[in-house]
Amino acid sequence: MPAPERYAVIGHPISHSLSPRIHTLFAAQTGRALRYEAIDVLPEQLAMAVRAFFAGGGRGLNVTLPHKQAVLGLLSRCSEAASHARAVNTLWSDAEGALVGDNTDGIGLVRDLQQNLGVPVAARRLLLLGAGGAARGVLGPLLALAPRELVIANRDVARAEVLAAVAHDAGSIPVRAIALSALGQDTPPGQSGTAGFDLILNATSTSLSNELPPLSPRLFGPGAVCYDLAYALHETSFVRWARHHGASAAHDGLGMLVEQAAEAFHLWHGVRPDTAPVLAALRSQTQ
Ligand code: NAP
Repeated sequence: MPAPERYAVIGHPISHSLSPRIHTLFAAQTGRALRYEAIDVLPEQLAMAVRAFFAGGGRGLNVTLPHKQAVLGLLSRCSEAASHARAVNTLWSDAEGALVGDNTDGIGLVRDLQQNLGVPVAARRLLLLGAGGAARGVLGPLLALAPRELVIANRDVARAEVLAAVAHDAGSIPVRAIALSALGQDTPPGQSGTAGFDLILNATSTSLSNELPPLSPRLFGPGAVCYDLAYALHETSFVRWARHHGASAAHDGLGMLVEQAAEAFHLWHGVRPDTAPVLAALRSQTQ
């Protein structure tokens, strides 16, 4: 019997990763024999580790913190999504042996919001907290859903301004950048406010250290929904804050994780797994 195809996720740290479990469940569901492992790779080992993986017959790699941007420099080509995000989370080697990359984070978020959670985005006022790699990756797919307005708030406002400029160049939806510290404050008459949002997405990494950015319940519009891109075994700090301060619903990013993995699985295997039972299996372990 041939050895199972090899796949892996690389990052640092990586022991917490749920990707091996998710891809193993997808493989069982779709009848594929594969081995998917988590490999701890330090930044200075990145190029060597990626080349060694594919030279050794590896078929596909997922890439997570802190390598999503750096790995772009190793590719022969990448998708439009990866190019816009300036970050890659899925790699494979094409028939000529050239290294190709894509970014499935944006589509993962959109599928979770739309298909799993039924959260409307079109014509809504959106607040995106954070301007790092994840924010950049979800920006284009969110704008493609035609929100009424998008405000990007970041601790370092210059990074939010860069993202807002990228969005301006790409379309007609109003996108503004502000400092996190200016959120929820009174707005001069005639200006669009920094309060009363319909959907607030936390793309800062604060939940990973059980912290919160400075936030006010004034951010909530009627029926506001909150979404934390981070996920944890317990309620994340942002989800807890949202539930305690009157959001109508608050979700973590576990669904996004499963959906971005399903898209990577589809890129590698040409088969789209059913995400619902996999998400349910993970949820039963995390609540
Ligand atoms: P990143 O590139 O390191 O960016 C971190 C962001 O968090 C920056 O905007 C940073 O602001 C902000 N931040 C960090 N500490 C802060 C603090 N104490 N107060 C306020 N803002 C703070 O990280 P990333 O790759 O974008 O990841 C962000 C989050 O998305 C993480 O929680 C990650 O787990 C999650 N994520 C989830 C999925 C999924 O599938 N569910 C996929 C990708 C990412 P400054 O620019 O001012 O430093």
